[in-house]
Amino acid sequence: MREYRNLLFTASVLCFIAAYGFFNTNPGFSVFLLILGILLFPHRSRKNYGKEKGILSAVLLSFYFFVYLPFSVPVSGECTVTFLDVGQGDCTILEFMDGKTTVIDGGLSQYGTRIVSFLQSRKIHRIDLLIATHLHSDHIGGLPDILSCFPVERFIEPVYPSELSPDTAAVRYLKQALKKENLTQEAVQGGRVLLEGDGYLLEAVSPVASIDSLDLNDYCLILKLTCGRNVFLFTADAGYLAELEILDQNLSADVLKIGHHGSFGSTSTAFLNAVSPKYGVISVGTDNDYELPNPYVLNRLQDYNVHVFRTDQNGTVTMHSDGISITVQCEKP
Ligand SMILES: [Zn+2]
Repeated sequence: MREYRNLLFTASVLCFIAAYGFFNTNPGFSVFLLILGILLFPHRSRKNYGKEKGILSAVLLSFYFFVYLPFSVPVSGECTVTFLDVGQGDCTILEFMDGKTTVIDGGLSQYGTRIVSFLQSRKIHRIDLLIATHLHSDHIGGLPDILSCFPVERFIEPVYPSELSPDTAAVRYLKQALKKENLTQEAVQGGRVLLEGDGYLLEAVSPVASIDSLDLNDYCLILKLTCGRNVFLFTADAGYLAELEILDQNLSADVLKIGHHGSFGSTSTAFLNAVSPKYGVISVGTDNDYELPNPYVLNRLQDYNVHVFRTDQNGTVTMHSDGISITVQCEKP
């Protein structure tokens, strides 16, 4: 009786380890259990094999052949997402294992050198995709500095009505810098794949063709990054209207970059329901003039149990996905 109790205990522990290994898709554990199963397998030439060893062996081998092999899926798609602290503005950097790099937005102009220094510190020598989610100064101000320091493969911006194009110094400087580098402004809408590699996919979700708004923010590029099993959703400054237009899409994500620096007009409850994120990141400046993030948005995020990181409090926030889980590192924890 005691032997069976010991056997049951051992089998439970091994099953727990196996389940852990399986759900984390760690082949090491499962192969270890396969070997253990073979070693315990009763054989006539062994004098002292017990019945309990036979049962244990059967459990382990059954797990390996009927659970692990048919259901385990190899996962790739390692990536690092850095939400750079650029005060009251946005700058997100995506780094992939194949060496490809994407920069989403470039903060206000005074943060250009900071972004360049960061990219250099990461040993980045070229940028595959430079994306302006929309043409407001707090998103494009630093882009000319990036363009002058790094070779850029493609520049992407959203499709938006020409009458909403802002006539600002930031837009003029950006156009001059693009012209100098012989880069065209590639305008895209939702539904386009922007970058694809081993286990990762970056796609534009919005702006959709049906959007009709007088606010340039509603024509922001909303981007979805899938790294293995992890999903990041970057909403730029999109408001309720833009969120509403894409609710019919699969928006489920682990990480949501909270819309419009935490403004009241973004991150509706319907949108939060659809995304259901574990983590939220708010890119916002300390003591900013707009008193962002809005307390109602913070309450809403708390109601949905979203773990929030803020660049004004946490500094630069770095998230690393190994394709299965996400680890978070903050400049100021
Ligand atoms: Zn903004």
